[in-house]
Amino acid sequence: MFENLSDRLESTFKKLRGRGKLTPSDVEKGLREVRLALLEADVNFRVVKDFINRVKERALGAEVLESLTPAQQLIKIVHEELVHTLGDSAVPLNLSGPKPIPILLVGLQGSGKTTTAAKLAKFLKKKNLKPFLVPADVYRPAAIDQLKTLAKQVGVACFDSQPDQKPVDIVKQAMAEAKAKGYDVVIIDTAGRLHIDDEMMAEVEEIKQAVEPRDVLLVADAMTGQDAVNIAKNFHEKVGLTGVVLTKVEGDARGGAALSIRAVTGCPIKFLGVGEKLDALEVFHPDRMASRILG
Ligand code: GDP
Repeated sequence: MFENLSDRLESTFKKLRGRGKLTPSDVEKGLREVRLALLEADVNFRVVKDFINRVKERALGAEVLESLTPAQQLIKIVHEELVHTLGDSAVPLNLSGPKPIPILLVGLQGSGKTTTAAKLAKFLKKKNLKPFLVPADVYRPAAIDQLKTLAKQVGVACFDSQPDQKPVDIVKQAMAEAKAKGYDVVIIDTAGRLHIDDEMMAEVEEIKQAVEPRDVLLVADAMTGQDAVNIAKNFHEKVGLTGVVLTKVEGDARGGAALSIRAVTGCPIKFLGVGEKLDALEVFHPDRMASRILG
C-alpha cells in the first residue's frame, strides 16, 4: 500500500537529511517535492494545498530551522499533519443505546458492500455481540443469496429476505425479528447501483426513516481514487453519512481517496477493507495510516 507515495516522500527526506541545518529555501524545496508526491498519488488538490500550507507554517519556524535534526523534525511535522488530515483520532461504530442497533450500509454496486456486511458481522461476533445480517438488495436476487451464504460462513444469523418484498418492509420485519430474538446489531445491506440516482437515494432515505440507523456507512472502493471521494461527498450531502468503509485499500498504491475523504467530506473513515477474505477488515486509525504513508 502507498509504495509510490512513501518512496517519493522518503527520497525527498533523504535529500534533506544530508544537509545539516536547513535554510528556508531547503524547506520550500522539500515541500515542493511533498506536494508533487501527494498530487501524483491522486490526493485532492485542495487537500494538498491546505496540507502543505499547514506544514510550511510550522516548518519555517524555529521548530525545524533551529533544530540539530531538521529533516527529522520536518518528517515529524508531516506525520502530525497527515494524522490531522486523516481525522486525528479513530471514530468507532456507535454501539451505544438500546438494542438492536441498526447499521445501514450504502454504496455503489461492486464497491464491496455485501462482503463488508459479512466482515462487519464477523468483527462484531468477535466482540461477543450477536449480529443479524439483512439483505435488502431486491434488484439483484443474487445479492440476497450472496449475503445468506456469507452469513453461513461467518456463522451468524441472516434475515430470510425475499426478492419480491419491498426493501423498507424487509428492514422493518428484520428489526422486529432482531428484537424478538435478542440480536445486538442489525447490519443492513442496501441496493447498490452503477451510478448514484434519485431512486436509490429515495430508497435509502425511506429505510433510514424506518429504522433510524445508529450508523450510516458508505462502502467505497479506494481503487477508484477521487471518484470514491466524489461519491462520498454526494452520499453525505443527500443522505447524511456517519462514516466510510474504504475497501480494496491493499491494492491502492496511491492512497488518494484515503487521504482526501475525511478532509473533503468531513466524514470519518471507520474501517478499511484490505482483502477479499472475511477477516480482512481493519479499524481505521489515522496515526497508523499516516505511518504507512510515510513508509
Ligand atoms: P457489492 O456489489 O458492493 O455488494 O460488492 P461485493 O461485496 O459483491 O464485492 C465486489 C468484489 O470486491 C468481490 O469480488 C469482493 O470479493 C471484492 N472485495 C470486497 N472488498 C474487498 C477488499 O477489501 N479487497 C479486495 N481485494 N477485494 C474486495
